Amino acid sequence: MELFVLPLGDCCCDYDVVAPGVRDGHRVHLPVNAFLIRMDDDRLVLVDTGMSRLHVEDPELTWRGTEAADALIPVMSPEDSLLYRLAQLEVDPRDVDFVINTHLHFDHAGNNDLLSRATFFVQRDQYEHAKDNPSFPNQYWNLPGLRYELVDGRAGLFDGLDVLPTPGHCVGHQSVVLQLEKTGTVVLCGDAVYCQDNFDHDSWDGQADPSAARRSGHMLRELASQHDAMMIYGHDAVQHRTLRVAPHGSYR
Ligand SMILES: [Zn+2]
Repeated sequence: MELFVLPLGDCCCDYDVVAPGVRDGHRVHLPVNAFLIRMDDDRLVLVDTGMSRLHVEDPELTWRGTEAADALIPVMSPEDSLLYRLAQLEVDPRDVDFVINTHLHFDHAGNNDLLSRATFFVQRDQYEHAKDNPSFPNQYWNLPGLRYELVDGRAGLFDGLDVLPTPGHCVGHQSVVLQLEKTGTVVLCGDAVYCQDNFDHDSWDGQADPSAARRSGHMLRELASQHDAMMIYGHDAVQHRTLRVAPHGSYR
C-alpha cells in the first residue's frame, strides 16, 4: 500500500477557527489536503477530495453573500486542483475506485462530482446530518450520479484500512487508520484534530461539539501511541511542512 499526500491549496482564515485562545485574531493560511492510496492490488482509494477546483478562478464561489465569506477564503493556484494533482501521478479521476469522505464540509468533499465511477464511504449519521444543510454545501456531493455506501461505526473497509467514528467536529465524522509496510500505522485524523495546538493548548472550542471532539482527539492520540503511529492532522501548517508531499514523495 502506498500513500500520497495531495496538497490542494490553503484556506485563509483566523487562527481562532481551529485553535481558539492560541493566537486569536491572527490571519493564517491553513493547508487543505486529500490522500490517495494505491492498494497492493492497484485499486485506488481517495480520502477526501479537497476544495472545489473552481475556487482557482473564483475564491468566493462557495461562501459569497454568506457570513463565512470573509471567514473562509480558499487560496488555490491551478496546481492545487485535484485534477492537476492526480494527473501528476498519472491518475484520471475515473481510475479512482473508492472515496472515503471524513465528512462533507466544502474543503473535504469539494470535488466529489469528479469521481463518478467510485463508491463513496461516509458515516450514515454524517450523510443524514449534511443533507440539505447549508454548512455542508450540497452542490459538491449530493448529486444523483454519485453512489454512497453508508457506514455505521467502525469498519474494516479493506485489508489494512479501517475507518472509525470521531465525532465532535461534526456529527458522524470519521478518521482513517492505515497499515503501511514500512511506515507502519498512519492515522488520517481529518478534522477530528485540526492541529497540534489542539492538544498542546487543550483548545477544542473551535469544534461543533468541543467535549466530543476532545474525546475523539484523545482516543486517536491513544491509538497512535499504542501503535507508534504517525498522525496526520486536518489543517496543521507546521506539520504540513514536514510531510512528504506528492508528486515528490510518498509513504510506503
Ligand atoms: Zn477541514
